[in-house]
Amino acid sequence: HYSLLPGKFSYWIHCRINSCVYRIRNIGIMAHIDAGKTTTTERMLYYAGYTRALGDVDDGDTVTDFMAQERERGITIQSAAVSFDWKSHRINLIDTPGHVDFTLEVERALRVLDGAVAVFDASAGVEAQTLTVWRQAEKHHIPCVCFLNKMDKPAANFCIESIRKKLKANPVLLQIPVGSGKNFTGVVDLLTSRKLMWKMKSMRDDGRVFEVKALDRSDDPDLLQVVSDARTALIEQLQEAVRRVTLARKGVPVLCGSSLRNKGVQPLLDAITAYLPAPNERHHDVVRWYKDDLCALAFKVLHDKQRGPLVFLRIYSGTLKPQTALHNINRNSTERMSRLLVPFADQHVEIPSMTAGNIALTVGLKQTVTGDTIVSSKASAAAAAHRAQNDNEAGK
Ligand code: GDP
Repeated sequence: HYSLLPGKFSYWIHCRINSCVYRIRNIGIMAHIDAGKTTTTERMLYYAGYTRALGDVDDGDTVTDFMAQERERGITIQSAAVSFDWKSHRINLIDTPGHVDFTLEVERALRVLDGAVAVFDASAGVEAQTLTVWRQAEKHHIPCVCFLNKMDKPAANFCIESIRKKLKANPVLLQIPVGSGKNFTGVVDLLTSRKLMWKMKSMRDDGRVFEVKALDRSDDPDLLQVVSDARTALIEQLQEAVRRVTLARKGVPVLCGSSLRNKGVQPLLDAITAYLPAPNERHHDVVRWYKDDLCALAFKVLHDKQRGPLVFLRIYSGTLKPQTALHNINRNSTERMSRLLVPFADQHVEIPSMTAGNIALTVGLKQTVTGDTIVSSKASAAAAAHRAQNDNEAGK
């Protein structure tokens, strides 16, 4: 019931952001080039209500281009992190560089994530690049949800075996596609046994509307059989996984759709909130060191002509506030940030403080570079121990 006046809006955002860590999801999208990472991201932002028009990557009118002005100032939604709400959850989408090699940058980006979505081109199956990033995610124990995209392509197949064999993962099927290629019309949700059918009147239709129908005897007998077998398998897997989030640890929830044709993105957003963990459900070593004192990792620095360096921080513990002394344990220096912002897709909202689990965009940290750890000066004892551990590891 707050009016969206700038001051009150910022206050409202501040309360929302800092009130419930279990509703935050810090996730990345892993994909082979061309699998549909950009299209899926854009659709997510659209369905979450952050962009008004649906853009086609091919038409060059995507959100990324809507934000041409932002890009001039050095920010794009793909460059670091974008924050949006989905059904009372805050999703922070953090860009995971798709480099094939084991660069420090990829490792750093993965440390910031609590979960990931792996987007596959269903007509190509598991491709080499995804395999590499998948292994890195496994190394960091990052739970994943798989999205088999491009189900509308004639060569698309429901590539579960490829996930099982190439990724050596245990796929937990949550959906079965209804039809394939041109006839791909929707999915059967195995948990509810309902069909989600997207009504597509025209190509520009936004797919926001979909019908939910019960499966019945008039349906294709092959589909009924596949659904029945998959449900039996799912029930067995569910019996083992008591809590929903543990499902993503025991196996990999698999969903399917076509982001270009606006099918399946809303259930994917639901799956992110249901199966991927909140920051407090993940084990991050630093939380043990700092307890309630501030500890944050700078995972990206952008240079803005007007505002100077913009540093993206993932806060692991404590509270981040502007105008307080912040200690950089890598440079052994102390500095102050001038402004603290929430990186929304369409705008950056300034707030007075931010608590653990969140992603912050800061202005005024001039000495900080990517990979630096920022702590409050209060946490000096823990910081000294942390630095010693870092030095030790670097010496190894
Ligand atoms: P990225 O490289 O992973 O970011 O992939 P893009 O999102 O840029 O998509 C690559 C190409 O695949 C573009 O030409 C898209 O229009 C196309 N594409 C993306 N999603 C789908 C889909 O669901 N179906 C089909 N047929 N094409 C898609």
